[in-house]
Amino acid sequence: MPIASFQPPVRTLMGPGPADVHPRVLAALARPTIGHLDPAFVAMMEELKSLLRTAFRTENALTMPISAPGSAGMETCFVNLVEPGDTVIVCVNGVFGGRMCENVTRAGGNLVRVDAPWGRAVDPNALEDALKSHPEASLVAFVQAETSTGVSSDSRQLVELAHRHDCLTIVDAVTALGGSPLEVDAWGIDAIYAGSQKCLSCTPGLAPISLNERAVAKLKARRAPVQSWFLDLNLVLGYWGDGGGRRSYHHTAPVNALYALHEALLMLCEEGLEPSWARHRQHHLALRAGLEALGLELLVPEAERLPQLNTVAIPDGIDDARLRRGLLEAFNLEIGAGLGDLAGKAWRIGLMGYSCRAENILLCLSALGTLLNAMGHRADTGTALTEAQRVLSGT
Ligand SMILES: *Cc1c(COP(=O)(O)O)cnc(C)c1O
Repeated sequence: MPIASFQPPVRTLMGPGPADVHPRVLAALARPTIGHLDPAFVAMMEELKSLLRTAFRTENALTMPISAPGSAGMETCFVNLVEPGDTVIVCVNGVFGGRMCENVTRAGGNLVRVDAPWGRAVDPNALEDALKSHPEASLVAFVQAETSTGVSSDSRQLVELAHRHDCLTIVDAVTALGGSPLEVDAWGIDAIYAGSQKCLSCTPGLAPISLNERAVAKLKARRAPVQSWFLDLNLVLGYWGDGGGRRSYHHTAPVNALYALHEALLMLCEEGLEPSWARHRQHHLALRAGLEALGLELLVPEAERLPQLNTVAIPDGIDDARLRRGLLEAFNLEIGAGLGDLAGKAWRIGLMGYSCRAENILLCLSALGTLLNAMGHRADTGTALTEAQRVLSGT
């Protein structure tokens, strides 16, 4: 068969990311490509940095998108801020904390791991113990919103502890940004990275980052050059920095993808950060009411739940892969599988950005209810929809 244009199916994305991309963002991608040094493009880059500062709640001059996915945002923070011999404490409570550890050792750092059980928040007392027994540590890293388990950790408290022991902080906000409270300046976060495809409702492939002056000072004081050429912020800033019109070529920026991020951030700012956080929370409560009415249980303790990623126990006797295939084939609906310790035991239902809306919740509950009944697990779909509607309408 001759190869024809690729026509993807139209899905509803309620997994751990990517989330549904807003039509305004998709339309922005189709605008005419211009040069990455075109004055019109450079003006757009300045707006993009300003929109990112609003989204991160920061005045940091070094705030920009890395031209690569969230993982590259992670790597940017670690390769620039970790020097060979630095002691780095990483709090691990899921997949992404584990990847931070990989980054530390590959950058030549001495890794100190503080593990918490999967499905639980980072324990501030355990971090404090590690800080006390490693006075030589210079950095603390953790994930605010662990997408692998659906857990939220208390960034403000963890950053404060790290600072009390003279450590800088690296925070993973890939799933947090836009979906739950995040205050880079007020909480004193030193380096942070995010991703475009989760609560920003944008296409995958870009990683907003922000570094404060203390992090920039550590970067400038490095003895060893940054091992990665592409992610060396000293070089990237020749293109993205405030060059007063003297921008120079570093790499060809993904021009159209940056139009999309600009549109996505504009939408977030139009909605407002607090309203967006509140929308994620309210829809999480509606989904939860519906899931409980179906007889399903959320695995994470209530106080540690991440509104934008809901981890649901798979009932006994239900075939995980078969149910998720049914959702995709019959309902064009994607939800996430469990990872690591939770593989085969849990589903991960995302409510991120444009995916976080009433019609998606109602689709998800009716699809789950229908398939669970078909697989012999009695579930009351009608009540689930009524319960979700009740929360959504605020009655
Ligand atoms: C998705 C995610 C990442 C990685 O982002 P990619 O765009 O897939 O590289 C990192 N950290 C967390 C918490 C994530 O949810």
